[in-house]
Amino acid sequence: MRLNLAMGRTSRKIRIKGLVQGVGFRPFIYRLAKNHQLVGTVENNNTGVEILVEGKADNVEQFIREIPVQIPEASSISEFIVSKIKPSDFSDFTITKSQSLSDEITEVSPDIAVCKSCLQDMKNQPNRIGYPFTNCTNCGPRFTIIQDLPYDREKTTMRPFEMCPSCREEYTNILDRRFHAQPVACSKCGPHYTLIEKGEKETDISTIVKTTARLLEDGKIVAIKGLGGYHLACNPFNEKTVAELRIRKSREGKPFALMFRDAETAKQFLHINKKEETLLMSWRRPIVLLKIKEQFAPSVSTGLDTIGSMLPYMPFHHMLFEELDLPAIVLTSGNITDEPIIIDNQEAMNILHPIADASLTYNREIYNRTDDSVAFVANNKERLIRRSRSYAPSPVQIKLNAEGIFAAGAELVNCFCIGKGNQAIMSQHIGDLKNLETLEFYQESVERFKRLFRFTPQLAVADLHPDYLSTQFAKEMKIPILLVQHHHAHIASCMAEFQLDEKVIGISFDGTGLGDDGNIWGGEFLICDLNEYQRFTHFEYIPQPGGDAVSKHPWRMMLAYLHHYFGDEVVSRFPLLFKGIDEAEIEGILFLLKSKVNSPLTSSAGRLFDAVSALLNVCRNSTYHAEAPMRLEAIADEKTSALYGFEFDGQISFGKTFEEMIADLLKGEETAKIAGKFHNTIVQLIVEVAEKMRKHTGLNKVVLSGGTFQNKILLENVEQKLKEINFAVYSQSGIPSNDGGIALGQLAIAAKRRELEKLKPQLS
Ligand code: ZN
Ligand code: ZN
Ligand code: FE
Repeated sequence: MRLNLAMGRTSRKIRIKGLVQGVGFRPFIYRLAKNHQLVGTVENNNTGVEILVEGKADNVEQFIREIPVQIPEASSISEFIVSKIKPSDFSDFTITKSQSLSDEITEVSPDIAVCKSCLQDMKNQPNRIGYPFTNCTNCGPRFTIIQDLPYDREKTTMRPFEMCPSCREEYTNILDRRFHAQPVACSKCGPHYTLIEKGEKETDISTIVKTTARLLEDGKIVAIKGLGGYHLACNPFNEKTVAELRIRKSREGKPFALMFRDAETAKQFLHINKKEETLLMSWRRPIVLLKIKEQFAPSVSTGLDTIGSMLPYMPFHHMLFEELDLPAIVLTSGNITDEPIIIDNQEAMNILHPIADASLTYNREIYNRTDDSVAFVANNKERLIRRSRSYAPSPVQIKLNAEGIFAAGAELVNCFCIGKGNQAIMSQHIGDLKNLETLEFYQESVERFKRLFRFTPQLAVADLHPDYLSTQFAKEMKIPILLVQHHHAHIASCMAEFQLDEKVIGISFDGTGLGDDGNIWGGEFLICDLNEYQRFTHFEYIPQPGGDAVSKHPWRMMLAYLHHYFGDEVVSRFPLLFKGIDEAEIEGILFLLKSKVNSPLTSSAGRLFDAVSALLNVCRNSTYHAEAPMRLEAIADEKTSALYGFEFDGQISFGKTFEEMIADLLKGEETAKIAGKFHNTIVQLIVEVAEKMRKHTGLNKVVLSGGTFQNKILLENVEQKLKEINFAVYSQSGIPSNDGGIALGQLAIAAKRRELEKLKPQLS
């Protein structure tokens, strides 16, 4: 029946931008509108959500006031515009189903940590008391269980579980919090856990929680199936156990992540500022790198002053901590070092079960593997290091049309990216493609993205490096391909994140990346836009003796630098610096350097940090990627403002820097101080070179990217100092500055070049 639209009624249009799609926003608006007896519509559009409402003036006002206060936890509002409209003839409030494909894509939401209401239901709702798969429209698994679009239960790994009448009632009732919550489940109809210990199977959930807690308290290692893959868990205060876990999963030095009971507990052990706390508690529940206050067992993290920490995000995590007599657990990815995180139950039984003392599994399949995401906070901004669970596959809005572009990514820390209109969809973290299992994961994920997002690749873009397996993969697609320089792609990635499409000063500091002169680049100052780049200057070329293997042996890079600046006699001149390094090995590396055999040239910033880390005897041989620079940063004294000399003469040379560092070392200066002074030196040289570039070009926008900018001391100081002299500074936040962000840059460059190509005939 049509409502009488008498005078005195109010009509409003509300346009909301932000994270409002695929997070239960429309049903939320529907329920709120119904509560206030309003009529109208809500629908998704390209930029967000549009609401038309009509009703009593008071009610409309109240409705508008309540939206921002009551929005679903996983949503956020960046823009909220209310305007007056003419009355329409709505008879009811309805959700207008989105028709266009790009809207469907946004429905592939990332996974969302269990919400407060569901945790309440797990205490009160008879069929959900202690039920560890409780979820609703506002929370629960999404991307990890989605097999195809449109997103409904039949196309997820929830398909085998037939809803019981009471779940179906909630699922079909638009006024219910579980309306169209595809993974809706309860203890009667949903998936369940099984604990396997010493060949015995336990399926009673409360017994499982108790037994798991006791095992962990008693120093046992438990494999636990998580949201995007398996974890291995143990007691972080028990050195024997943690050391044992390192041996069993053959993980030498890389720190383990921890999960804390809650933020208050975490604060007893870690220094956490407001921004870090917000990030830690966000519905995405990333691992956040935080400064250690109270020590854990030594084997949890050696030589670093930070530890990756997260809070419970699955119902089971909450149940475990209610029972557990520990403030935190080690929760590390369930895999053998360098292999992808395990998701398959059978594989877990074959590989993880022998490693663990017990295995906790459940009978819902994980379809899309996602690791825990990792972030830190610098200059009060979130900085993603690994973009995976609860972030992927949220699209990145870009200015250019990227339809049909496939960006293959880098090799070591791979993510790929696909273009759908103005959206760049980054894959979850894939990993090091040189590992066979990881390469298979890459190939499989590309296929899945093609199907899930109805993506037909028309143009491929990949790294210039012909040996990168991602480049080879792109070449085999048999579609037109563009090859782009690694550091140009880093800068373009940051530009795309901030929708820049103009000429900028680009500073890319990184461990590696093939240059267009055949050398290995990584200390690069570029003048570039999305189409092309010019190299303004770079770190002086130094031979990298033995090629890629130096990254495992930072002392070789130290020898390369010292040999470069002090000549063949360097070892006899400074014997103290080489104390403890095998003489025969030194001879071997010296031979490579003198004869220039197998010693490609590099301008890499990462290699410079390696050399300094080894020189200070902080890290001479590393057991995981970027260990030497990370440990150098960890010991650096940030209070000192002193710095070393360097030379800029066409390129940047560190002869003076090494001379003065060695003088400091030989007079017994603290290594912390030297490390601090070295960091200041790099900050200063960036500032000076940026000034020169501004003078030379008139450009005022500086774009920072590359893995070296994950160094918090460097990033914070460079950003602050550049801003002090009125540069506009852009540094990555939601996209990693390491190679995990490369694919976005590749995509942006390809989109730009294609656009210019199309313009060409009109110009001539
Ligand atoms: Zn919920
Ligand atoms: Zn049910
Ligand atoms: Fe890189």
